[in-house]
Amino acid sequence: MARLHITAEGIVQGVGFRPSVYRFAVARGLTGWVRNRPEGVELEIQGPEAGTADFLRALRTELPPPARVDHLEVLVLPEVPGERAFEILASGAGQDVRPVVPPDLATCPACAHEVATPGERRHRYPFTNCTYCGPRYTIIEGLPYDRSRTSMSGFPLCPDCAREYGDPLDRRFHAQPVACPVCGPHLRLVAVDGTLQAERDAALLGAGAVLKRGEILALKGLGGYQLLVDATSAAAVQRLRTRKRREEKPFAVLFPDLETLRVACAVEEAEAALLQSPEAPILVLRRRPGGRVAEGVAPGNPRLGAFLPYTPLHRLLLEAVGGPVVCTSGNLSDEPMAFRDDEARTRLGGLADAFLVHDRPIVRPVDDSVLRLDRDGPTFLRRARGYAPLAMPLPLEGPPILAFGAHQKATVALAFGGQVVLSQHLGDLTSVEGAELLAATVADLLAFFRVRPERLACDLHPDYASTRLAERLAAEWSVPLVRVQHHHAHGAACIAEHGLRGPVLALAWDGTGLGSDGTLWGGEALVVEGASFRRVGHLQPFPLPGGEAAVREPRRSAVGLLWAALGPDAMPEPFRAAFGDGELDLLQTMLARGLNCPQTSSLGRLFDAVAALAGVRTQRGFEGQAALALEFAAERAAPDGTYPWAFADGAVCVADPAPLLAALLRDREAGLEPGILARRFHAALADLALAWARFAGLRDVVLTGGCFQNALLTALVTERLTAAGFRIYRHRRFPPNDGSIALGQACVAAGSR
Ligand code: ZN
Ligand code: ZN
Ligand code: FE
Repeated sequence: MARLHITAEGIVQGVGFRPSVYRFAVARGLTGWVRNRPEGVELEIQGPEAGTADFLRALRTELPPPARVDHLEVLVLPEVPGERAFEILASGAGQDVRPVVPPDLATCPACAHEVATPGERRHRYPFTNCTYCGPRYTIIEGLPYDRSRTSMSGFPLCPDCAREYGDPLDRRFHAQPVACPVCGPHLRLVAVDGTLQAERDAALLGAGAVLKRGEILALKGLGGYQLLVDATSAAAVQRLRTRKRREEKPFAVLFPDLETLRVACAVEEAEAALLQSPEAPILVLRRRPGGRVAEGVAPGNPRLGAFLPYTPLHRLLLEAVGGPVVCTSGNLSDEPMAFRDDEARTRLGGLADAFLVHDRPIVRPVDDSVLRLDRDGPTFLRRARGYAPLAMPLPLEGPPILAFGAHQKATVALAFGGQVVLSQHLGDLTSVEGAELLAATVADLLAFFRVRPERLACDLHPDYASTRLAERLAAEWSVPLVRVQHHHAHGAACIAEHGLRGPVLALAWDGTGLGSDGTLWGGEALVVEGASFRRVGHLQPFPLPGGEAAVREPRRSAVGLLWAALGPDAMPEPFRAAFGDGELDLLQTMLARGLNCPQTSSLGRLFDAVAALAGVRTQRGFEGQAALALEFAAERAAPDGTYPWAFADGAVCVADPAPLLAALLRDREAGLEPGILARRFHAALADLALAWARFAGLRDVVLTGGCFQNALLTALVTERLTAAGFRIYRHRRFPPNDGSIALGQACVAAGSR
């Protein structure tokens, strides 16, 4: 006989873990108990040694996804005489270390089957879920995770649901959001003026008809409101663009099923698996020629963000439409997504033609996650549904820390008890609503995890809404505020993700972030060691005429770069055409007088300048568009040479792009394809990475910053450095962009005194 005490950490709550444990134990004739703890699950088993050993094996290998044990601790205990059964004990409230919060999970195959099967009591019921799937983070008000602390508390279980909930052998045993047509939430189709048009299944079918007519539907989804429109109708897509004030930024497309998706996009096996996983993110895929998706969905873009229905509601709606629909966050461009009913009605009233809503409150907004799967692994572009708020272990012990992130792709991070929780993607903080969402998310995280931060961290930039909130709260709570340089935070995030120690070279290639010297950084080689860093390389700074305006106009970066690198008179003829009368003179006057021309070493701005000078893109419609256009152009071209740099090394290796620029302009003059120019530029950046890596002389190199969303650049740099013997680390579980800044800030603040 043996008795074991086991604690399991990982994804073990709200995913059918305890029922699995129950089944494993009963099947092996073991006695004991299992219960949820804030930090995971705790259990004891007792029985013959062969049985307990086999139980442990089952726990490691037979858990149904998405349950996952990251850490298992087993203690041998003295036998408890007289124990007769295996029991599931109630979870005790009150303890407050290491709570594990499950993310929202896409509909499991068993639930999908039930919803599709006539005669089942949940046939066509849009809120069907079980222990393996359904809403979690979007409905949980507090911990431990129990129905009474979710937004399902207002829906008392009917006898049938109660029976399933209480039966350890049922798939819905202790499924907190369990519901059925008798006791659960219901749909309503509402006109823009608020009149009720249909309810329940008729509402669903009516919404399908709205979409088929080419109109815009506002859908109350899982983590917020979404705007939907027929993706095969160019006119409908254009109407959505006009109303949403979103000119060219690509929309994601929701497909009814994998077969339909495969018609529009090329899908590798691993991609198909991820699309159908419990996380069910938006995946950026290669678009196939032809297909029914309107060009205006992602103009001039060889890729398409595609995903599959992840709730029965989306599934049934897409079935009613019978084809792909654009499915985008319910907001005006740059504002956060609406998730409260009253707020959605006001904010989306002018955008949508009808609302499909329901009566299950959304506790917090959680947007769809966006990923790309490259040959060597995933790259997160936006981390939210399915992933947030899963924690990352943090080796540093210390006081609880709250980090406020940057300004775009905002997130906040909370480090406590040996782990760090990164919030879901919150979007841009430029709007009033964005800043309010940041403050609300901070309050939510602190209340949720019951943590009082003893140290705060923010960016160096004084004007970010995140910095201002951090300053206000630091004063209010009388706690110290650590200001972390933007690219230091980028590097620290990637270092923490891989648990690296000792000095590491961070290639932080980015848009712009405020540097320690007051200039705008972004093409940086930093040696990061814990809470400190040394700048060992950077691009030769160049002026940005108009400052922030240059971020929206690649041609401004080009003028500034030409001015600095080749002198005031170097203005290639074809490039002049990118300017209207007097525009160029004005910029050159600004440069000559140094008016509103901040200096930058940003690689993102170098990308913009090269895109403009290569004739790829002079104006920008959305953030990163010029760089994307340059990447796509380079991808279409074969490898064909590179461009030279001039290096000035002293204590710092400064890379001057003047020779690169001169060679690029010669190529343009010689009439070479823009794709060849773009490809050579990418190759030159791989050369730059290698030069800086050799200069720093450290084996471990992390790639971080928004530029490493570029698949080609990342692949070329990785190849080049790996071949030279460096070990390359990339962001795998968090985005390389500013979405990880809060994470990096928390890590730096944890290590600083
Ligand atoms: Zn299910
Ligand atoms: Zn029910
Ligand atoms: Fe950044």
